[in-house]
Amino acid sequence: MSNLNEVYQNIEKACQDSQRQSKDVTLVAVSKTYGIDAIEPFILEGQKTFGENRVQEAVEKFIPLKEKYPDLKLHLIGPLQTNKVKDAVALFDVIESVDRLELAEKLAKEMKKQGKNIPCFIQVNTGKEPQKSGCFPEDVEKFTQSCLDLGLNVIGLMCIPPKDEEPSAHFAFLKKLAKKVNLHELSMGMSADYTIAVEQGATFVRVGSALFGPRG
Ligand SMILES: *Cc1c(COP(=O)(O)O)cnc(C)c1O
Repeated sequence: MSNLNEVYQNIEKACQDSQRQSKDVTLVAVSKTYGIDAIEPFILEGQKTFGENRVQEAVEKFIPLKEKYPDLKLHLIGPLQTNKVKDAVALFDVIESVDRLELAEKLAKEMKKQGKNIPCFIQVNTGKEPQKSGCFPEDVEKFTQSCLDLGLNVIGLMCIPPKDEEPSAHFAFLKKLAKKVNLHELSMGMSADYTIAVEQGATFVRVGSALFGPRG
């Protein structure tokens, strides 16, 4: 069985185990560090949604890929510098890493300019790790409101749990936070823990190495 089929089967099983419907879970295939040659077979196998964490790398790979396959959907899952906002708004279909007011303001302005209203997630630093991006949990309510006031199309919350902690506590926490701010989409779960995330309500899972193999 292909890696893609296996991941979809695991998602299906996790949905069954938690009385969810697999149509409510979108697999974001994280293709960072992999080239067009590695990505194209997944597209031919039917995968449409991909995730990249660097704007420049994504531009190089996905401008040609989107030209060839216009129905691809590309998610930005990595930190976004304000000087890359213009390119990001031009290329990405979803931005998962909105985490500070300055960025939200630049995004809102650029989207107006480009006539777009790209769905966004607010990234939450659930473990409050100093080196990690993401808004702190206690700031989520206020920051969400600020983003909505700016006109951003905020659809959900995203998190990357600390490496050395049980992810499920963080997933449950993110779900609780999303409920509090009345957002419905949850982007959580990576190769090591996406089935746990699905059981806890993830609507988007971001899976890289389980599909493409280990990154060098
Ligand atoms: C790289 C990355 C992933 C995918 O990680 P894997 O462990 O390879 O599945 C998911 N989310 C983010 C934000 C990433 O940077």
